Amino acid sequence: MTYTTFNVGGLRCHALEAGRQHLDGGAMFGIVPKALWARRAPPDDRNRIPLALRCLLIEHDDGLVLIDTGIGNQENSKFIDIYGVDNAGQGGRTKLEDALRELGHAPADIRWVINTHLHFDHAGGDLSREGLSFPRARYVVQRGELEFARHTNERTAGSYLAHNFEGVPFQLIDGEVQILPGIRALPTPGHVPFHQSILIESGGEKACFVADVVPTAAHLPLPWIMGYDLQPLVTLETRRRLYQRAEAEQWLLVFEHDPTIVSGRLEKEGKGVGLVNEKRLD
Ligand SMILES: [Zn+2]
Repeated sequence: MTYTTFNVGGLRCHALEAGRQHLDGGAMFGIVPKALWARRAPPDDRNRIPLALRCLLIEHDDGLVLIDTGIGNQENSKFIDIYGVDNAGQGGRTKLEDALRELGHAPADIRWVINTHLHFDHAGGDLSREGLSFPRARYVVQRGELEFARHTNERTAGSYLAHNFEGVPFQLIDGEVQILPGIRALPTPGHVPFHQSILIESGGEKACFVADVVPTAAHLPLPWIMGYDLQPLVTLETRRRLYQRAEAEQWLLVFEHDPTIVSGRLEKEGKGVGLVNEKRLD
């Protein structure tokens, strides 16, 4: 299946499978010993674990809204090998385009693209070799994130590739903003300073595309924080706040990188949280 459909109140949503990448398991789980994380995410012979590139499509009165865009088609074969990228679709398209197509949509039908942040596996499909991937869309990102992506250092440069975002006519937002009725940007810093999650609310129901705050369901325990995170202690507090609200208000959490679990809800489990109502890929 290339997508999973669910409703949030009156908003119809589709979690789109834009392919996979494979990243170092140690880097993905930070301080967690391999003996623990390898049980949840068995690594391959290069110590890499499979990760989804899941994007979210929302059918909104204002037009189709796409959250994050996967890796796109601009990377070379060395990059594709290192990161184990598998996102090529049919006939020269990407898997993201294929998923849209299966739902009956062309890239030009997308009216809004919202980036949680500008790392290559979240904004890589904003542009393609041919130019803007979604030529009629308004692209939205946090102002601080674009600034941050443009001023890299030795630690951050590997994840921010200028060809993913330079030339995109972004609409810049600052902090918590309602982008469209029922679609809200929620600053969730830590992974990077201006990371945002997207909260969807309709008819008393809520869902949150958490992106890299909790990349997979295996990352739910508070200290299971990625080594990639620039501010791990900020991630910790972001999660604490997010979990409180998510549990109290019964949010559906959608996981961008989990290879099998698309979404679920939080429930108290001892001192921490567990996941219930898991929706898995077939
Ligand atoms: Zn990231």
